[in-house]
Amino acid sequence: MIPKEIIRKKRDGSKLSRPEIESFVRSYVGGGVADYQMSAFLMACYFRGMDLDETTALTEVMLRSGEVLDLSPVPGIKVDKHSTGGVGDKVSLILAPMVAACGVPVPMISGRGLGHTGGTLDKLEAIPGFRTNLSIKEYKAAMAEVGAVLAGQTAEIVPADMKMYALRDVTATVESVPLIAGSIMSKKLAEGIDALVLDVKVGRGAFMKTEAEAAELAKTLIGIGTSFGKKVIGFLTDMNQPLGYAVGNWLEVKESVDCLKGRDVSDLMELTYLLGGAMVMLGGKAASIEEGTGLCRSAIENGKALDKFHQIVRRQGGDVTYLEDFRKYPASKFEADILSTSSGYVGSVDALELGFAAIILGAGRTKLEDRIDPKAGIVLKKKAGDPVKTGEPLAALYTEQESAAAEARSRIERAFSIEKKSPAAPRLIHAMVDERGVHPWPPAGKVKI
Ligand code: URA
Repeated sequence: MIPKEIIRKKRDGSKLSRPEIESFVRSYVGGGVADYQMSAFLMACYFRGMDLDETTALTEVMLRSGEVLDLSPVPGIKVDKHSTGGVGDKVSLILAPMVAACGVPVPMISGRGLGHTGGTLDKLEAIPGFRTNLSIKEYKAAMAEVGAVLAGQTAEIVPADMKMYALRDVTATVESVPLIAGSIMSKKLAEGIDALVLDVKVGRGAFMKTEAEAAELAKTLIGIGTSFGKKVIGFLTDMNQPLGYAVGNWLEVKESVDCLKGRDVSDLMELTYLLGGAMVMLGGKAASIEEGTGLCRSAIENGKALDKFHQIVRRQGGDVTYLEDFRKYPASKFEADILSTSSGYVGSVDALELGFAAIILGAGRTKLEDRIDPKAGIVLKKKAGDPVKTGEPLAALYTEQESAAAEARSRIERAFSIEKKSPAAPRLIHAMVDERGVHPWPPAGKVKI
């Protein structure tokens, strides 16, 4: 098939056949379709969309571009979680060890920063020595030994997503239901899971800006997972303001380690416990999400989740001494506080502006070949609803470049709205989604799934 014809067909709004999608994506992975042709294809998909048949075909081709892992020798129901991407979303770093400490094996294949959002792999690689590019042999060995692994897709595992994800990141083709669904589900289906919990973000800092779009994405992801015989449930969760206080790779590692040590960062831990409870329930270690959440709380309180995180880091080559003593890590050349110019209450903290500000500071990429500065980023001092006085810090920024500090500063200032009256508390969990549809959260009675 001629690549240009397939691009034209999608550009003109026609449905692609499974063989057409297969031929195009296969050729791309093999080098027969160029990056510029894939970019045009992705943009055509962005504007024209794909129906469920096309999306499922895309997912399957991406999945089959590499090996599908068989983790059956590892005992237990293997459960993972995937987030559709946000700002300050470091949940995976706390969740994977916490759930594994509850006895549920967690195989996790994650992505890098995408668009204005951060990526779990970039965060983990901020830990000196930590390797995310594991071979299949290493991945399986780590999984069997530790009960959790956090790795990236490689030339062996979903190479199609590895290439397409990097291209989407720099061609403004991220916010598309079929492309997000293909990307997420190909990775999740390849990693050897039995069940999956989805965190579908909604709001300013999410790829899906409205609840209706987020629900459509959740239903598509669940539909694909179910057609592959996996148990999948999802939550629509708020991404209007960043999760927790830290935005930027090493800064987020530090905040995650603090939470593993028992610090209660309220929105971050509320979400982590909910997703953890759902994973523990799907993993067969609890009869309900509430019971699973209780087990997760105990794993944090008794230190088992932190121990498990150290085991994961050590097993993947990371140096835990940096986690034991944060002062060992090099400091950024430039640090500055952003001060409030008025008194009142923080009305909103725009996650999208902060995501872009963090990229400017060096925490993310604007081009494929960009190198990330793991130290760069922002630490919020105030969040929505907090009282603030003139001259008090709203946030601190960290970077290596003075010019970046100046550019990011105005974005950070813009991200905060200060109001005279205390605003209503933002709602963190919008809804729960399963194969039957979208349900209010918290549920009226007890949830039994
Ligand atoms: N996470 C992914 O893995 N892929 C996407 O496209 C978006 C979020």
